[in-house]
Amino acid sequence: MKSASLMTAGIVVPGRWLPGALAAASAVQPLEQFDYGDVVLTSELHEKQLEETHSVLMGLSDDSLLKPLRQMSGQPAPGEDLGGWYHYNPDYKWGKDEDGFAPSCTFGQWVSALARMYAIRRDQPTRDKVLRLNRLYAQTISGDYYDKNRFPTYCYDKIVCGLIDSHRYVGDPDAFSILERTTNTALPHFPKHAVEHGKEWRANKDQSWTWDESYTISENLFLAYQRGAGDRYRELARQYLDDEYYDPLSEGRDVLAGRHAYSYVNSLSSAMQAYLTLGSEKHLRAATNAFDMLSKQSFVTGGWGPDETLRAPDSGDVAASLTGSHSSFETPCGSYAHFKLTRYLLRVTRESRYGDSMERMMYNTVLGAKPLMADGRTFYYSDYNFKGHKVYSDTQHWACCSGTLPQVAADYRINTYFRDPRGVWVNLYIPSTLRWTQEGTQVVLTQQSRYPFDTMVQFDVKTSKATDFIVRFRIPTWADGSSISINGRREKVAPTPGSFAAIHRQWSSGDRVELDLPMKTRLEPVDPQHPQTVALLFGPLVLFAVTDNPSSLTRADLLAARRMDQRSWQVKTAGGTIRMLPFTDIGDEQYSTYLRVA
Ligand SMILES: [Zn+2]
Repeated sequence: MKSASLMTAGIVVPGRWLPGALAAASAVQPLEQFDYGDVVLTSELHEKQLEETHSVLMGLSDDSLLKPLRQMSGQPAPGEDLGGWYHYNPDYKWGKDEDGFAPSCTFGQWVSALARMYAIRRDQPTRDKVLRLNRLYAQTISGDYYDKNRFPTYCYDKIVCGLIDSHRYVGDPDAFSILERTTNTALPHFPKHAVEHGKEWRANKDQSWTWDESYTISENLFLAYQRGAGDRYRELARQYLDDEYYDPLSEGRDVLAGRHAYSYVNSLSSAMQAYLTLGSEKHLRAATNAFDMLSKQSFVTGGWGPDETLRAPDSGDVAASLTGSHSSFETPCGSYAHFKLTRYLLRVTRESRYGDSMERMMYNTVLGAKPLMADGRTFYYSDYNFKGHKVYSDTQHWACCSGTLPQVAADYRINTYFRDPRGVWVNLYIPSTLRWTQEGTQVVLTQQSRYPFDTMVQFDVKTSKATDFIVRFRIPTWADGSSISINGRREKVAPTPGSFAAIHRQWSSGDRVELDLPMKTRLEPVDPQHPQTVALLFGPLVLFAVTDNPSSLTRADLLAARRMDQRSWQVKTAGGTIRMLPFTDIGDEQYSTYLRVA
C-alpha cells in the first residue's frame, strides 16, 4: 500500500467572521461545483423525485404553460387552463380563496428545472421542450405582463433563472437575446431598488400587491453576468441588493424576526453572490451571521419559519407553533433556498457544518415531500404540530413550491460533491458515481451504501493511471467513533466529527475506502426554554412518533428506542409502545415531530 495520510482538512477560517479572518478567507478560492452531468445518482428516493417532477413538467402542454403569459399580454391563449396559482383572473381578490394568486409564477422555474434535467438526462424531448418554450415565451414579452402582475420582480427573477439555465445547460443560442428583451421590457415596471416585503411601491389593488420579492433578484442577475449575459446584469444585481436587511445582519444584529421566511432566506443567496462576484465581505458576513441566527430558530428537521414568518430569538414562538400551527415549514421553496445558501457557505468557508445542515434538511423535509401531481397538487408545508399530517394543500394547486421542487430534485447532484484543484470533497452520502478529470487523469468515484439506514459507506476508485490527489469526506458533528479504512486497512487516526477528513495518496484503480459513521439516538429540545419538549434523532434522521403524546414518556425511554427493521424504530413506555419513523416513511398517519417528556 502506498503512503496514505489522514488529516483533518485545515479549518480555513473560524466559524465567526472576525475582521482578521476575512483576509485569510479571501485568499482561498471557493470550492467549485460539479456540473449536473458529472454525477449519476442511484438512490431510489432521490431519483424518484427527479423522475416524478420531470414527468409532470413534460406532461404540461406548451399552450397551458403559456396561457397566463399570453392572456396578460393581451394575446390569443388557446389550450387548457392549469388553474390554481397559475391561472390568470383579472378580477382576482386576495383572501377569497380563488384561483389566480400568482399567474405564471412558476414558468421560469419549470424551464430552469427542465434545463437542469436535460443536463442530467441528455434526452432530446426535454431539450426540445426548453427551446420551444423559450421561443413561445419570447412572443409574449410585454409591459402589460408586468403591470397586471402582483409579483413582477418575482416572475422576472424566475424567467431570468430559466433563460440563463437554458443558455448554460441546453445551449439555447437565443437565451441571452430573449433575456435582454425581457429585461428591457420589465425594468420600467420595477421599483428602482429592493423594496421590502409589505411596503407599498406602486398603486395597489390590495395588500398582496406589496408582497413582491425584489430583494431576492440579485442572485440570478449576478449569475447572468457571470455566464456572459453582460456587465449590465452585474450592475442591476448591485442595484437591487437589499442592504436595509444585510447591513444590520453584517453587524451581528438579528433582524430576521417578522420577515417572510422563504424569501428572506432566499435573499441571503443574493448576499453570497455579492461576495462571490463583487468580493463584498460585508455581504458574506451578513449571510454567515444570518445562517447562525436562523439555526437558532430552526426546528429539529432543519426547517424554519412557522406560518412563513421568521421569529425573534428566545421568543418561544417556535415552540408555541407546535400547538398553534400546522404550517410549520414551507418545504420545497424553503429547502431550495436553504440548499443554495448552505452550498455557497460550504464552498466559501469549507466548513462541514453547512453540509450537516444540508443533510439534515434533505432527509427530514423535502426528500419526504409528497410528490408533485399532474393536476397541480403540491406539497407545501411540513407539519410539526403535535398532531401532524402530511397533506397536500387544497388551495395551493401549482403553488410556488411546484416551481422549486423540480429544481430541488435536479440539484441533489450538485449538493453531493465539490472540487478544488487538489481533489474532491464528498459532502453527502448518496449512492452515486462521480466522474472528473484530475490533472489529465480520468477518475471515477463510485459511492455505495444504504446510508442513513446503514452506517457504512463504500467508495471505489477507478483511474486511467495512478494519480496523486485528495478526497475529503464530511464527518458529521454527531458521528462520534467514526473510522476510515483504505483497502481494508483501518487508518490509525480517527476522523474528527464536524470536519472534512482528507485522504491524500496515490490513487489507482481498485482502491476502496470504507467510511463508518456510527449512529446513536440523541434528543434535541425545541428551544432552550422548553427542555421537556424534545425530538429523537438517529444520525441525521429525525424519528417521528406515529402517535399522540403518551402521558408517561421519559428521556430514557426515547433514547432506548429499538430498531425494528431498517426503517422503523420502537419506543417502549410505561403506557405502551410508540412506533417511530423517518419523514420519508410517513404516509397518511398522524405523527408528532416533538414529544413532551416527564
Ligand atoms: Zn413555496
